[in-house]
Amino acid sequence: MSDSMHIVCPHCQSINRVPANKLAEKPNCGPCKMMAPQFEQAATLLISCAILEESA
Ligand SMILES: [Zn+2]
Repeated sequence: MSDSMHIVCPHCQSINRVPANKLAEKPNCGPCKMMAPQFEQAATLLISCAILEESA
């Protein structure tokens, strides 16, 4: 039996079949999963830049 669901990737809007036990993790498709750490890094950089500008 397969407990999988169809989840829309938040990054590229493509529909992925995600096993139910993976739903707790942020489900991404393969390419986006590989890119995710870089996205998070970029977001962190943007946030720290914004904070720097605010305090300047
Ligand atoms: Zn994706």
